[in-house]
Amino acid sequence: MSNIIIPKQLDIEDKLALMKDDAKYEVGLDSEAEKTALLCASDIKSKPAPPKVPKMFLSSACVFNCAYCGCRSGREERHSYCHAPRELAKMAVDEAKRCGHGIFVSSAIYKNADYTQELLAESVRLMREEYGYRGFIHAKVMPGADPLLIEKTGRYADRLSVNIEVAHSSGYSRVAKQKNKANILAPMGSIAAQIQSAKYDKRRFATSQTTQLMAGSTGEDDRTIMTLAGALYRKYGLKRVYYTAFHYLHEAKGYENEQLPLTQTPYWRMARLYQADRLMQLYGFTPDDVTPESEPNLYEDIDPKTAWALRHLDMYPVEVNTADFDTLIRVPGIGITCAKRIIEARRHCTVTHDLLKRMRVSLKRSIYFITCNGLYKGGSLLDSPDIRSALRTGKSELSIFDALTADEGKPEGSSC
Ligand code: SF4
Repeated sequence: MSNIIIPKQLDIEDKLALMKDDAKYEVGLDSEAEKTALLCASDIKSKPAPPKVPKMFLSSACVFNCAYCGCRSGREERHSYCHAPRELAKMAVDEAKRCGHGIFVSSAIYKNADYTQELLAESVRLMREEYGYRGFIHAKVMPGADPLLIEKTGRYADRLSVNIEVAHSSGYSRVAKQKNKANILAPMGSIAAQIQSAKYDKRRFATSQTTQLMAGSTGEDDRTIMTLAGALYRKYGLKRVYYTAFHYLHEAKGYENEQLPLTQTPYWRMARLYQADRLMQLYGFTPDDVTPESEPNLYEDIDPKTAWALRHLDMYPVEVNTADFDTLIRVPGIGITCAKRIIEARRHCTVTHDLLKRMRVSLKRSIYFITCNGLYKGGSLLDSPDIRSALRTGKSELSIFDALTADEGKPEGSSC
């Protein structure tokens, strides 16, 4: 590990400042878009947002040249850094102790994928064995990393992740020329297999894996994204897919022939993708349910659960005193917690609109889709085209979203 080059002109403070800048654009733990998605759809239940975790970067000097990334090799104007594993381990543990949360450790591809992975593995080993850190560690796996190095990293980390990045394999040659389906899916498969075998062998290895998927890099529709996410959950047992917006705000060297339009995927789309994802993971929806062939894109003005209900109006209204759990949670305005409360209450009394209100069910949204003991209070809207306007996401919710995610003019993201 002694041959790591640390640029002389950057001291620790400079490197920390650059690292914090990089960290702003790495999602996977507490992205603003995810928080916003939850604010926009209070009835779509999700686990509470994880606490802020310090994001530590081994290096920002990448040999790859992904068009959207602030660390890309073709970007000359940027200072880059590389920490020695011991330096990174100490900084990460100090920061984790200061924040009282876990550690997220990532890197650009420094020299090559295996070399970087070896440094990451050594960093997490030092955090555990020399600095005695016992908290949560999430470590990145480089595209194409050797399974043995993945094993070495996973021995000390709780979670591993390799970023899938694009929703369609043709996207790699378009925006991330040195990446390809094989060098992403091979480590993902290796992590999934090692999680399983470690459980069986009762040996220490990370217990979960996640990935990051960019929306908008290849002009793909949301159906393509949700279908891929569904397949990744199924095939690799992922804990989470994190969605990030594609940013391409400055022309990148090496992509002249691609003629990529300068663009930024709107954040409302990320919010809708997170909602659709939660519907698949927690509510039993399928990719076809949230993005059917006839409507392959999520809507800005209607959340995906409401959009599903509007496509299945023949199923409504449902009687809250007799509907089963799975039917209740498909009612706009009734989430998992409220559905449980309704079923529990039914054991003791008849559920009325007033009782639903006291249970904090959103009657504003659910009223069109339910009866309480045969009583319907939704007026005539259910059979009218105006139902959609009545259920639109309010302007105020979208402005919360804008306020949380506004980042006009931010530099390109960096992630590996
Ligand atoms: S996304 Fe990763 S591999 Fe691509 S340039 Fe950025 S740091 Fe390098």
